[in-house]
Formats: sequence, structure tokens, C-alpha cells
Amino acid sequence: MAVKQDLLKKRLEEQRVRLQEQISQLTIGGQDHPGYSNHMADDASEVFEQAKNLALRQTLERQLEQVEKALERFERGTYGYCLDCGEEIDYARLKAIPSASLCINCMQRREGRR
Ligand SMILES: [Zn+2]
Repeated sequence: MAVKQDLLKKRLEEQRVRLQEQISQLTIGGQDHPGYSNHMADDASEVFEQAKNLALRQTLERQLEQVEKALERFERGTYGYCLDCGEEIDYARLKAIPSASLCINCMQRREGRR
């Protein structure tokens, strides 16, 4: 398990860097539109663009939060265990979603509750 976890940790770290980059790009793009703000016709689409960027940024920030929490669990040695039931999370699931904090059963139970 240790070797596999190293691999997942590396992927999480890569994911964190990528998400941080994407978020900072969106932040810069959303605040500054040189050459566009003077055109009335562009304002509506610009507002729409900014709203879209904001939604995307929130999604990315949530993902980043999950990645960081997963990396924290690495530090504590609890990575790979379900937060709800404490069972080991299936490796295939971690490989697909390295930031997963719940096993499939608990995730489905939580989703069913919504
Ligand atoms: Zn569980």
C-alpha cells in the first residue's frame, strides 16, 4: 500500500499545482480586461463571462480544498480510509479520484440523503 500511496500523493500534489494555476488565471482574467471594457456591446457578454468564470473558480476552489484535505490526511496517516465508516477506500476509486474521502458505499449513502 505504501508504494501505491506515494503515487497517489504525487498525483495529488500535481493536481494542487494545476488547480492553483487555473484559479490564479481565472482571477487575473476576471479582474482585468484591457481593451474590452470601453465597448458597450461587449459588457453583457463580459458579465456573462465573469459569472461563468466565478462559477468555474468556485468549482476549482472546492476541488483544491478536497485535494488539500487529502494531502493533510497523508500527513496524519489517515489517507485512504473512509471518513464515515473508517474502512479502507478501494484503490481503484482512489486511483480515479485521489482526493476521495469516502468509500463508495458511504458516498452513495450521502448522495441518497440529499
Ligand atoms: Zn465508508
